[in-house]
Amino acid sequence: MTIDLTDLITEITAAMAEAEDRGRVATYIPELAKVDPAQFGIAIATADGRVLTGGDAETGFSIQSISKVFALTLALGKVGDQLWDRVGREPSGNAFNSITQLEHEQGIPRNPFINAGAIVVADVNLGGHQPRVAIGEMLRFVRYLAGDDAIAINEAVATSETATGFRNMALANYMRAFNNVHHPVDLVLGSYFHQCAIEMSCRQLALAGRYLMMDGRHPGGGRVVSPRRARRINALMLTCGHYDASGDFAFRVGIPGKSGVGGGILAIVPGRASIAVWSPGLNASGNSALGTAALEHLARRTGWSVFSPPEDAG
Ligand code: GLU
Repeated sequence: MTIDLTDLITEITAAMAEAEDRGRVATYIPELAKVDPAQFGIAIATADGRVLTGGDAETGFSIQSISKVFALTLALGKVGDQLWDRVGREPSGNAFNSITQLEHEQGIPRNPFINAGAIVVADVNLGGHQPRVAIGEMLRFVRYLAGDDAIAINEAVATSETATGFRNMALANYMRAFNNVHHPVDLVLGSYFHQCAIEMSCRQLALAGRYLMMDGRHPGGGRVVSPRRARRINALMLTCGHYDASGDFAFRVGIPGKSGVGGGILAIVPGRASIAVWSPGLNASGNSALGTAALEHLARRTGWSVFSPPEDAG
């Protein structure tokens, strides 16, 4: 089956425009509640160097938890497999901001994609520096991955989350009590909230994800991570990338993906495509309602899946 991706994007964008259930925009970060839920964007960066877009693919949105993929990549570069002494690699089955599991597990978060795990990763990336140094490093890294220096942080979103991030403060303090957060909590969270407040369009996000479809290589030459590390990051995205609905996403879509409460999802088809979708309305599990539906549609029509032989796909 060979499918024309341009036609497919047109088909998906039209189907999403008609969708009745568009989910609900996240409100717990007040600044995010202002985003117009009518929007939908999609961008596909292919292994042969094309970028195809549809809908609101050039509109910037708050990448939120999708930043955890880039932060994890940086942290693994700094401390390698030692990271796994401080963060687990199992799906949590709990909400992204749950605190109960941490008590049972002695302050070691289940995986780097729930908030507690991402806070430990932010602590690693702080590495004794001031938050602005770590934030600058993260921003440079994402710009390098996407090949786009226009990517920036939305300060209003970072400030809004800092003013209301009580659960994340609780998680960070709790882990500090177990000595699994080493820097002062306000510095770690300052860095974490800014990383979440990076704003990108679908086009920029799909471009930034290319190293994960290319076995760790940067499309411009050189390596971002080793092939083994790229595969492991993809494995974590598949098993832990959609909060407590990760199993359902693997079942419905069948490719690694990481979602964020801003309504974006980065999805990777190894060897084929890096895909970004965005629509701000979330389903009951906190994942983009239309973004998930669009990826399900795309996977069905292309045959792209990590669970089927490549020859079955278009
Ligand atoms: N900054 C958000 C938080 O920590 C990220 C959550 C998300 O996108 O899942 O609550």
